[in-house]
Amino acid sequence: LPELPEVETVVRTVGPFLRGRRIESVEVYPPFLVCRDPDTLRQHAPGRTILEVRRNAKHILVELSGGWHLGIHLGMTGRLLAGGQTTPHTRVLFVLDRGLLLYDDPRMFGRVEAWEAEPLRRLGPDAMAVLEDEFVARMRARRKRMKSLLLDQAFVGGIGNIYADEILYWSGVHPRALSCRLSEKRARLVYGAMKRILGEAIDSGGSSVSDYVDATGQTGWFQIQHRVYRRTGEPCGTCGTPIRRILEGQRGTHYCPKCQRV
Ligand SMILES: [Zn+2]
Repeated sequence: LPELPEVETVVRTVGPFLRGRRIESVEVYPPFLVCRDPDTLRQHAPGRTILEVRRNAKHILVELSGGWHLGIHLGMTGRLLAGGQTTPHTRVLFVLDRGLLLYDDPRMFGRVEAWEAEPLRRLGPDAMAVLEDEFVARMRARRKRMKSLLLDQAFVGGIGNIYADEILYWSGVHPRALSCRLSEKRARLVYGAMKRILGEAIDSGGSSVSDYVDATGQTGWFQIQHRVYRRTGEPCGTCGTPIRRILEGQRGTHYCPKCQRV
């Protein structure tokens, strides 16, 4: 699934192409699962200029002239493509004054919506923007297992299954450790690992463990650096102990039983 680094990569690759472009028309294709209100999109997006393309957690926000916004979430298999040809999986097609913008999504868990105001969402602070003291204080004020806490988008926005496992590995914290029991020092290690791993993943263009590609169709390559995610049974790079897989919060969770403590 696209997580923060993948969405950031899409924003960075598609943003320069879109800024300043005018939307001429919008086609929305049935079934209307990705865009549940096609009339609003078709009525209000055309004629507007794209002012800015931003990311908040795993959401892409496209700021339009006149105070309108497009909200795009890639779901599991969504792709935002600048240029290119429509496919049987194209759900929304934006005809721009120069070129096309396609939203393709085979499984249709994504969303494309238009809002008059900036969408208010119950999102926690973005994982790349949250300040260390705030992150540490909020973590230690909660009583939740660390894997589940990192996946909780109301706690911090942008982290999914891959990066949660990697962050906990690099900070030496067991996925089932209780957040309220972590010392301040260990909580700061989690924060540092989060910023470093997400930053490195962004620099390398995001993961490509499933259908993810960036807006130009390039696959990312961060997966070759995963230390625990989908490495069950392989030796830990630090101590050699086989990586273990458990279910935590109904999600497959990979960790080193020796390096990661509760
Ligand atoms: Zn280890």
